[in-house]
Amino acid sequence: MTISSNLEQVNMRIQAAAERAGRDLAYVRLVAVSKNRPSAEIVDAYLAGQAVFGENYVQELVTKLGEVKEPVQWHVIGHLQSNKVKYLAGQVALIHSVDRISLAQEIDRQWGKLGKSCDILVQVNISGEVTKSGTTEEGAIQLVKECSMLPNIKVKGLMTMPPFFDDPDATRPYFSELKKLSEVITDSRIAGVEMRELSMGMSGDFEAAIEEGATLVRIGTAIFGER
Ligand SMILES: *Cc1c(COP(=O)(O)O)cnc(C)c1O
Repeated sequence: MTISSNLEQVNMRIQAAAERAGRDLAYVRLVAVSKNRPSAEIVDAYLAGQAVFGENYVQELVTKLGEVKEPVQWHVIGHLQSNKVKYLAGQVALIHSVDRISLAQEIDRQWGKLGKSCDILVQVNISGEVTKSGTTEEGAIQLVKECSMLPNIKVKGLMTMPPFFDDPDATRPYFSELKKLSEVITDSRIAGVEMRELSMGMSGDFEAAIEEGATLVRIGTAIFGER
């Protein structure tokens, strides 16, 4: 399978899931997760119509920022260390993985130096698994509030990574819980905060995620093959 035919398949499955859920396809965006894949494959995917790419590792992303000349949009989806934020300032469109205020403060500081602001999502560890990053559900509301006071940060929504199950339907409760949490945060009307995005769903479970309200699905393996 080529990247372009994989992308076509994935996009068809996204469309079908959105239709099943009665959702407008305009509010479901594909983030192609290109970690551990060479820049040439990112360019292939771009030429096949894919514009948004998600990366996990700062060093790898910085290398690719230099290599990929096409106007792709970069998202950070992996755990981020505060001391690496400076390498990304102004160069990524969305950071999905903000899970603590110290990280948000550093993003605020680095983007502020450029006179820019950074869109972020708050990562929530719905399952409570100790191996996963993310705030608790209660912690998320507090973190969103604290982020809303930082002048160069714009909170756009929430992200989660449920536990791995063979059965994609088993992940649904985690997705619906994230959606509920985002509604609770919307209802608390925090100034400057928009709960517009729900980043949830990967290769194994993105259709369930879309049916449960995902606006950003992060898909690697189904596009680029096994890592
Ligand atoms: C690697 C990764 C993905 C993509 O996973 P696939 O199963 O390859 O689709 C999505 N989100 C995060 C946070 C990841 O680290």
